[in-house]
Amino acid sequence: MKAVVVNEKGSGEVQVIEKEIPKVGPGEALVEVEYCGVCHTDLHVANGDFGKVPGRILGHEGIGIVKEIAPDVKSLKVGDRVSIAWFFEGCGVCEYCTTGRETLCREVKNAGYSVDGGMSEYCLVTADYAVKVPEGLDPAQASSITCAGVTTYKAIKVGDLKPGQWVAIYGAGGLGNLAIQYAKHVFNAHVIAVDINDDKLALAKEVGADHVINGKKVEDVPGLIKELSKGGVHSAVVTAVSKVAFNQAIDSVRPGGKVVAVGLPSETMDLPIVKTVLDGIEVIGSLVGTRKDLEEAFQFGAEGKVVPVVQTRALEDAPEIFKEMEEGKIQGRMVLDMKKGKCGCGCGHNH
Ligand SMILES: [Zn+2]
Ligand SMILES: [Zn+2]
Repeated sequence: MKAVVVNEKGSGEVQVIEKEIPKVGPGEALVEVEYCGVCHTDLHVANGDFGKVPGRILGHEGIGIVKEIAPDVKSLKVGDRVSIAWFFEGCGVCEYCTTGRETLCREVKNAGYSVDGGMSEYCLVTADYAVKVPEGLDPAQASSITCAGVTTYKAIKVGDLKPGQWVAIYGAGGLGNLAIQYAKHVFNAHVIAVDINDDKLALAKEVGADHVINGKKVEDVPGLIKELSKGGVHSAVVTAVSKVAFNQAIDSVRPGGKVVAVGLPSETMDLPIVKTVLDGIEVIGSLVGTRKDLEEAFQFGAEGKVVPVVQTRALEDAPEIFKEMEEGKIQGRMVLDMKKGKCGCGCGHNH
């Protein structure tokens, strides 16, 4: 099988190599991968930012069909369509795993980082942790919900957003675009999107933002947000990789408001203690989502409430895509289509 791996020397370009199809062990299922999204986290893994993992098969936004299950597997059957997600497996017994916070498990396994991931023609999953994709959800779109979708859906949940309330989404890119759709069409909130790129803001408006703000053109972003939301938003979700956005988010929530941190700039945010105390502000970090969160996030996709914008490319294009991502040239979500380019006629099918 073909697979996209972290450079075997430990640094440099990702490689497309030929590997043996893995053998199913106890508790596992073998998945024939259909699609796998390419995410910024993959770039971090490939660059060794979380530690070097030479030869590791990348990818944590995989979707595919179960081809084989181990004799002890009860939760999946052959033919099921399932996900291969960053939250690949928890220990199942620690205080986090047993209290609905399994993504915080200290023994967690992550697809495409600590175990082989979905950028491959076949992939093993821990059957009880692979979430089923519901009928009616396009598998290429599902790949995007497996990471960006569930991450933003969970972040909005953590921010405790109620129907009719106001939310500010900082960053209207791959994550922010889905955050806007969940906030508007699932949580029935009023949505203000903030970004510094007009193209992204135009798309934000298209998918449901009530107001958009270009942070480069507006001097006082929190001031404008307070005006629009009559006193500040109830929660702010920060997907932007920018300290400025985090600081503005703190200033744009109303008393009792929540700031949910999702983006990962390698800096600290300025949290004024007086405002935090007197206004009862909460700042909460949110990381991907549990299996249940993913199941819910998928279902809203299947119902057409949330529609990820994806572009498909062939697996062989992976090194090129990673380069484009490094250079910031990518708009929208790139998804590897494992069948694309397999035939000579260019129809994209395997025949
Ligand atoms: Zn991702
Ligand atoms: Zn655990």
